[in-house]
Amino acid sequence: MDIAGRAEAILESEVIWDAHSGFMPDPAADLTNLRIWRDAGVNYLSVDVGFDLLPWHKTVGTLAAFRHWVLSHPREYMLVSSVDDILAAKASGRLAITFDIEGMNALNGMVEMVEFYYRAGVRQMLFAYNRSNLAGGGCHDVDTGLTDFGRRVIDEMNRVGMFVDVTHTGYRTTMEVMEYTDRPVIFSHSNPKALCGHGRNITDDQIVACARTGGIIGVVGLNRFLGENRTDSERLADHVEYLADLVGSRHVGIGLDYSFPVEAGDIDTIIEAHPEFWPANEYPKGETVYSKPSQMRELAEVLLRRGLTNRAVSDILGGNFLRLAREIWK
Ligand SMILES: [Zn+2]
Repeated sequence: MDIAGRAEAILESEVIWDAHSGFMPDPAADLTNLRIWRDAGVNYLSVDVGFDLLPWHKTVGTLAAFRHWVLSHPREYMLVSSVDDILAAKASGRLAITFDIEGMNALNGMVEMVEFYYRAGVRQMLFAYNRSNLAGGGCHDVDTGLTDFGRRVIDEMNRVGMFVDVTHTGYRTTMEVMEYTDRPVIFSHSNPKALCGHGRNITDDQIVACARTGGIIGVVGLNRFLGENRTDSERLADHVEYLADLVGSRHVGIGLDYSFPVEAGDIDTIIEAHPEFWPANEYPKGETVYSKPSQMRELAEVLLRRGLTNRAVSDILGGNFLRLAREIWK
């Protein structure tokens, strides 16, 4: 079979998994844009409902609004709570949706909020969002490490079955989280620093520590984190290959962080307005450009052309996260 045919077969048989959306978590977001993922052949998307810049009650409101929208469009979308649900969604041509939260300010200091969010459809939560918070350190802040509160949250996340996610988190805290927990830890959307020296990207020892927990690193599709101001599929493949060479293809996934074009509240305007979250030296003025969900097919082709096996490409595009969800979600 030729490369295009092999890529097509992978997209047909595997659950294509995008571990993180990048559009603004706002109750007014136009979710008809979710068709971009469906049309691209993506089968599962984790939709961001909040991050540490926003007050915790805004996250609750966005979660309520997004849940309501997804449940109101049952022919195209399915709010899933298990791997079996995801398989059912794919079989019926629907995009499976769960939610994620970027940073533990959304807990408002209450460990009890973990189960509340889980029951509402949240399946992964990041420790911090660039700045430090009550749980631990952010990647663009002074990182004083994992706190007692953070440890209690990990215990609760493990109990209810939520992915512990350390993207956007400070180096020391990520290492302490991975040391503390006995469950797999993920970086849902982080790239290797070796290929792009951005402060949001992660070092080889973070990548190795993540794989040792049984976790997965999702490659993120923003030009700022891919380097060379590129978002093409060859560049995505460079990051995938680097990770696969370092820790094996079973620990690599995709978390594109794609945002559809928005007219008001453009992400670059927000970045500029909040240098405390996006320091100007790390986020120089300029346009944020995104790899698109429609590149999944081309990415599969590029990886196959570079010699990765069908099994490896299938795992990277979704099989790995699916396996981990079966292991962790309850
Ligand atoms: Zn993010």
